[in-house]
Amino acid sequence: MQDPAALLSSVFGFDSFRPGQQDIVQAVCDGRDVLAIMPTGGGKSLCYQLPALARDGVTLVVSPLIALMRDQVRALREAGVAAGALTSASDAEETEEIFRALDDGRLKLLYMAPERLARAGTARLLERVKPTLIAVDEAHCVSQWGHDFRPDYLEIGKLRARLGVQLAAFTATADEETREEITQRLFGAPPQVFLRGFDRPNLHLAFRPKDKPREQLLRFVDARKGQSGIVYCASRARTETLADALNKAGHTALAYHAGMDPDARRLAETRFQREDGLIVCATVAFGMGVDKPDIRYVAHADLPKSIEAYYQEIGRAGRDGDPAETLTLYGPDDIRLRRAQVDEGLAPAERKEADHGRLNALLGLAETPWCRRRALLSYFGESPEGDCGACDICDEKPETHDATVAAQKAFSAVLRTGESFGAGHLIDILRGTPTQKVRDRGHDRLPTFGVGQEFSKGEWQVIFRQLMGLDHLRPDAARHGALRLTEKARPLLRGETGLMLRKDAMTRAAAGGERPQ
Ligand code: ADP
Ligand code: ZN
Repeated sequence: MQDPAALLSSVFGFDSFRPGQQDIVQAVCDGRDVLAIMPTGGGKSLCYQLPALARDGVTLVVSPLIALMRDQVRALREAGVAAGALTSASDAEETEEIFRALDDGRLKLLYMAPERLARAGTARLLERVKPTLIAVDEAHCVSQWGHDFRPDYLEIGKLRARLGVQLAAFTATADEETREEITQRLFGAPPQVFLRGFDRPNLHLAFRPKDKPREQLLRFVDARKGQSGIVYCASRARTETLADALNKAGHTALAYHAGMDPDARRLAETRFQREDGLIVCATVAFGMGVDKPDIRYVAHADLPKSIEAYYQEIGRAGRDGDPAETLTLYGPDDIRLRRAQVDEGLAPAERKEADHGRLNALLGLAETPWCRRRALLSYFGESPEGDCGACDICDEKPETHDATVAAQKAFSAVLRTGESFGAGHLIDILRGTPTQKVRDRGHDRLPTFGVGQEFSKGEWQVIFRQLMGLDHLRPDAARHGALRLTEKARPLLRGETGLMLRKDAMTRAAAGGERPQ
């Protein structure tokens, strides 16, 4: 069995798990039957794809959404994974190819549309290839009372019983009746159930633009003297200079990074675990093995890599459920550094664009004009009601300005170019910059060309990021980070609502703070 965490980065290029994923992947890898309830967009596919790749043999994936299956198969193949789909849309040649791969034992994931399950021959095929796991996407389709009932889903339970194989079921529908019905119809015995919201209400969330970062950090730590905390830094050198500064200011701080020898690292981990009131200034290398319930704060002295990494790192605070504080500092240098890390990495071009997209989403969160927790949770697919009252934005509403027209122009550029481009190209269109790419695609002839000259490139960048932060625009990782409109954008596009965006971020961009991307 291969290590799923290693596959997460080597195959999918992700730096960390999303909330909930790791526990589910672990349970499936341990051979348990699992029913996982996760919001749409929460990252369910990875929860069966990773265990499928980690083990020997083939995993059968049942999904009712043919387009989605095809997208997944294409993305997996691009990542070098042997995957195939048998659907009503498969032609003879494709089917033949899949059968060959199955017989050679090459295929890792076999996607199948439910109507295929009941077809003559399918049971025999599956008995021959003996999948080691059945993964059921949209498992609520097995519920007769639900709105999505698929009679063919009833075949899955029979198939599982006949093959005597492990089953993992996924759905976004959480109500108890549906859950009961899924358990009854799909599983032989009650599965392990994962049902957990992503919210950590005891964590206070805050971001601040860097002004005098060392002083900002000292002030934050001074106000929490004697408490245990982690300060995450972007570089090894910075863990050391910050630990020094904190020690000079009368705190007890240790540096921690992957360049230290193993004994020194272990010593720091043990001291942090056992002593009270210790601060660790660390790179992301710190935290995996740390299980200290009473960490009272996590500060990011520098911007993390992605929202996933941010969530995982702040999540180490307040495991005991008592209030804990978080603070993330960010500035133009961080953005430049993170961009350079992406650009200089070894990943293929499409993955780099996707990484830029993820960084943009994090910046959108940093600059959100709305409740930060709502922005964070909506990124993971949840839609909380009301503002949280426990984030810096809820504490003090930032100054905003009307950006309705700007947003409509941005949406129009996205739509007129077929939702196929990232922010950089769209901004060139809006500002009327006739780059080679713009001219090659004939985008200088669009009515949107040059309609956005009132804003600089940097200001447009902020507008796009905020629109991503509000989940009006979403970068599509499967399509090289191309931006597309979400449902949330429609009322604004139709002029039914307006949009207010943050003023301070625009002011900083206008001052030319960062290299636009
Ligand atoms: P669901 O099936 O739950 O609706 P998906 O599996 O399609 O969600 O995932 C939603 C998006 O989240 C996809 O674009 C996927 O690439 C991305 N994603 C999933 N897991 C991670 C992760 N650990 N890090 C970054 N992005 C992720
Ligand atoms: Zn809030």
